[in-house]
Amino acid sequence: MDTEDYIAVEDTYNARNYEPLDVVLERGEGVWVWDVEGKRYLDCLSSYSALNQGHAHPRIRRAMVRQAAKLTLTGRAFRNDQLPLLAKELCELTGYEMMLPMNTGAEAVETALKAARKWGYEVKGVPDGQAEIIVCAGNFHGRTITIVGFSTEEQYKDGFGPFTPGFITVPYGDADALEASITPTTVAFMVEPIQGEGGVRVPPDGYLKRARELCDRYDILVIADEIQTGLGRIGKLLGSDWENVRPDVVTVGKALSGGYYPVSAVLADRPVLGLFSPGDHGSTFAGNPLGAAVAREAVKVLVEEGLIENARLQGEYLLGRLARIESDYIAEVRGRGLLTGVELKPDARGARRFAEALKDEGLLCKETHENVLRFAPPLVITREDLDWALERIEKVLTTL
Ligand SMILES: *Cc1c(COP(=O)(O)O)cnc(C)c1O
Repeated sequence: MDTEDYIAVEDTYNARNYEPLDVVLERGEGVWVWDVEGKRYLDCLSSYSALNQGHAHPRIRRAMVRQAAKLTLTGRAFRNDQLPLLAKELCELTGYEMMLPMNTGAEAVETALKAARKWGYEVKGVPDGQAEIIVCAGNFHGRTITIVGFSTEEQYKDGFGPFTPGFITVPYGDADALEASITPTTVAFMVEPIQGEGGVRVPPDGYLKRARELCDRYDILVIADEIQTGLGRIGKLLGSDWENVRPDVVTVGKALSGGYYPVSAVLADRPVLGLFSPGDHGSTFAGNPLGAAVAREAVKVLVEEGLIENARLQGEYLLGRLARIESDYIAEVRGRGLLTGVELKPDARGARRFAEALKDEGLLCKETHENVLRFAPPLVITREDLDWALERIEKVLTTL
């Protein structure tokens, strides 16, 4: 079978809920992937930051294979010897008292929302059924019905209602608007330190800090969705670290397992996560020993191999070089660490055709929204590989 055949079969039998580039990958190593024709590409998407440690990281693979041969799933009816160590290691690394494991990012977000509501009723004393959670316009927190219900992206919601009540939307980056929307029944404010899917939107300096102060003043939890910005992507362990803000609740996922297995988690202190009693919440696969062993190693790789520092250094370089590209198409270059976005002008006729052209040049990236190209390579990337990528990016943005 060749590329055309695979595409035909997929488009026949698989629901078309995505519009992938026409490249069929079969192998990956570090920042590189190979398609079924043997052509090599530099991965500048990292599966939306799930591959911070690069493709097929050998240490994580060994941990996975070793654990797969021993014990993969117990369900939480029994205990296993990996979950306690993941919980301890993740809490020690991030400075939170407790963790609750889930599988996907959306599940971690749902868990954080449940925790916040429970805290609102049991600790803050909000009357039953009245808890409100403030979210930001342009957010992306996943695809469950509750989560898309408070998305401002019409397509995410269209045809999927009715939605869960209790969510208020404010403009992203506007702390005054946040304050104005707070009521006595507000229990949480959920925010991404940078809006990744929203188009790599970086809020004004001091925004998270002011949001933190407001939430302290009005007794409201700050939930930072760090599923994309966390675990080194923007050059710090957590994106909130850029403003030295400590959220009450943090969601992590994606790179938590280095691309091997879906593992997500909610982190918080005992006054919040301690409110869960047996039976309140759960998931068959969450906290399984295979995922836990993989996540333990994935986190160690991030720290021990200096990937967070590398993201900061290479990210500065990438952003600087992107900003110097002289192209009539570029409206703005923004980002932090290795999460960068190039917003194109309306007359560039969309980012998709640039992503297609870059694919032909051997570089894989994805447009986010109509007109933003996101460049987010694995954090293991070297200066040399970045130069290779920049040569192609510059070529396509100046000659297409
Ligand atoms: C990807 C993402 C999610 C959802 O994660 P899934 O694993 O796809 O459910 C949630 N929040 C943010 C910020 C994300 O980038």
